[in-house]
Amino acid sequence: MTDRLYYHDSFLYAFDAEVREISHDPRPALVLDRTAFYPTSGGQVFDSGVISTENEQLKVVEVAEAEDGRVVHYLEAPPKEIKPGSKIHGQIDAIRRRDHMQQHSGQHVLSAAFVRLFNLPTVSFHMGDDYCSIDLDAPNLTRSQVEEAERLSNEIILENRPVDIRFVSRDQASKLGLRKLPPAEHDQLRLIDIRDFDLTACGGTHVSQTGQVGCILLRKIEKVRQGWRVEFVAGQRAVATARRDFTALTESAGLYSAHIYDVPQQVRKSLEEIRALRKQREESLEDLAEAQAAALLLETPEHNGRKLIVRTFPDRDMNSLKLLAQKLTRLAPNAIALLAAQSPQPALVFAQSPGQPFDMGALLKQTMQKLGGRGGGSKDFAQGGAPNAEALAAAVDGAAHNITM
Ligand SMILES: [Zn+2]
Repeated sequence: MTDRLYYHDSFLYAFDAEVREISHDPRPALVLDRTAFYPTSGGQVFDSGVISTENEQLKVVEVAEAEDGRVVHYLEAPPKEIKPGSKIHGQIDAIRRRDHMQQHSGQHVLSAAFVRLFNLPTVSFHMGDDYCSIDLDAPNLTRSQVEEAERLSNEIILENRPVDIRFVSRDQASKLGLRKLPPAEHDQLRLIDIRDFDLTACGGTHVSQTGQVGCILLRKIEKVRQGWRVEFVAGQRAVATARRDFTALTESAGLYSAHIYDVPQQVRKSLEEIRALRKQREESLEDLAEAQAAALLLETPEHNGRKLIVRTFPDRDMNSLKLLAQKLTRLAPNAIALLAAQSPQPALVFAQSPGQPFDMGALLKQTMQKLGGRGGGSKDFAQGGAPNAEALAAAVDGAAHNITM
């Protein structure tokens, strides 16, 4: 078992140790007799850093815990000179460690706040690269509960309470009223004691005074299978997140020439305007299609009692094409419309007034075979898309010839 130096001092960023094992499969890795590197466990992610000798420097890219209690340091590249028995110097990334301490200690404070205020226990903790989250065993969670827990947590942080590490036996621990008692694995338990606020068993790295957490900012809440997930950020992460929010909000406000607090109102107004304009546009397109259909019918002579309208438009979307076909076949009882558009997407719509004898679906399929496109429809209405616009007009003319008028 590796002697874990961080158990006693979370602020130990550099240490000396001896190499016990080197392995290469599947990745180069070292096991030491003692380490300050934290391996991923209990929701907290691993430390990174450097393991070095006088002649060699190895980057530690991941640290994991083996089942037998050894801490495995995964390396970016295999060691050249370092071998079992070598004396090494370990240096962990202090900024990353400090961030993890802030998030993890912040989590203890926050979990205790939810218990003290609303009797809502934490069932799991997740630490990500951007934010952290706890899952609460809670049937419900309101905005005001979230705000209250955030306020109490920040008060405890501001009071700068001592955070002590204590080692006790399982028997002793069971009498202390811990917030969380881990499953029976070890006889000795490591307790994290936030004075007069929270006592819990944990193997992670924590600050020594709550003030070092800096602050805690609660973010999104979300219903999950076993309760509610609360996202949060602490310390420098909270400041960085608030900075990012402010930048995004300022940019949005700039687009509206508004104050940042007026952005939601401005967005609401814009959405209402868009909705109204969309409705107006639909009505205008209907009117336009109807007028165009009427004009086309007027200029098309009847042949054998029917009007055949054949048109290829350079620029018209599928919806406008369909709309025009609908209007043509509804305004006149004897219309056959063979319409095409070259862009934005090469498209075809074939339609006939109800009661006319042709089969638009079959005619479109036949035309599509020539064009190499896909489409289909019913006897009275069919639509399809072609891969390119070049042969479109000729294909529509060909379809017109196929209709015996
Ligand atoms: Zn902890």
